[in-house]
Amino acid sequence: ATPLALIRGGGLAANRGILLRSGDAFQIFQDVDTIVLDKTGTMTTGEPAVEAVVALRGDEHSVIRRAASAEVFSEHPLADAIREYANERSIEFSDPETFDSVTGKGVRATVEGEQTLVGKPGWLTEEGVDLMVARGDIDRLQERGETVVCVADDESVIGLVAIGDPVKNDADSTVERMRAAGITPVMSTGDNERTANAVAATVGIDRVMADVLPDDKRAEIRRLQDGGERVAMVGDGINDAPALTQADIGIAVGAGTDIAIESADIILMGDRLGGVMDAYEIAESSYRKTT
Ligand code: ADP
Ligand code: MG
Repeated sequence: ATPLALIRGGGLAANRGILLRSGDAFQIFQDVDTIVLDKTGTMTTGEPAVEAVVALRGDEHSVIRRAASAEVFSEHPLADAIREYANERSIEFSDPETFDSVTGKGVRATVEGEQTLVGKPGWLTEEGVDLMVARGDIDRLQERGETVVCVADDESVIGLVAIGDPVKNDADSTVERMRAAGITPVMSTGDNERTANAVAATVGIDRVMADVLPDDKRAEIRRLQDGGERVAMVGDGINDAPALTQADIGIAVGAGTDIAIESADIILMGDRLGGVMDAYEIAESSYRKTT
């Protein structure tokens, strides 16, 4: 990039809390056709809260006690939500005797001598837990856009915890701005398809990549690029770093993790999703297509 290109639009952007890592980031950005948005923490507030508890064995308190104990050492936002709910209701829980985190799936722990699995329904099924009795409740809660976390011992399901994470209040206006600019928005998430589709529908997104394991996010971006799309990826989490690097333009939002910030070409201060399109509009006015 020439020194002029390095600063074009940069000052205006900085005033709006948009930082550029490279001089040609804006030039590439105004050429993208597709923007992939991570769901949790990017499209949503990233402050999930428990909305419902279903006890299939025992009572709601024992389901929460078991889940919160298993999640004591997990740093996942869903684990935070479960512990917070337990604390708010003064439901006491204790450290698990053993703990193992399975990335993108859940946790396996020993709680009061008993094997405990807390995680996504698909994972529990893989582990041989029969979810038949819970199926109706799982479907109903996922259709409301909630993430259903199953709590089970080594053979059967004990209960469900439905966790909601509201979309940011500028999510649908940002999606509209993308469409107006001729850009296709795509939502990417490790969450299940039914929940993902329900959330996407509330903001007007119809292309959804669900059940994407953290390591597969990069491959999904690659697949779009192989199909001829120029792709920007917007994310905030540690899981998103490889995808941010793979994308033609990586954009880190909000209180993004350091690793996400290091992998991004454009960094947005603050939590607004609208910053993505603010950046795009500055990029466009700085680099009007002349060829
Ligand atoms: P996202 O792409 O939405 O950030 P992740 O890849 O972190 O999601 O996780 C994918 C899914 O795995 C979550 O939606 C959840 O269902 C399940 N999961 C992951 N970690 C945990 C955990 N510690 N407790 C419960 N469920 C979990
Ligand atoms: Mg994430």
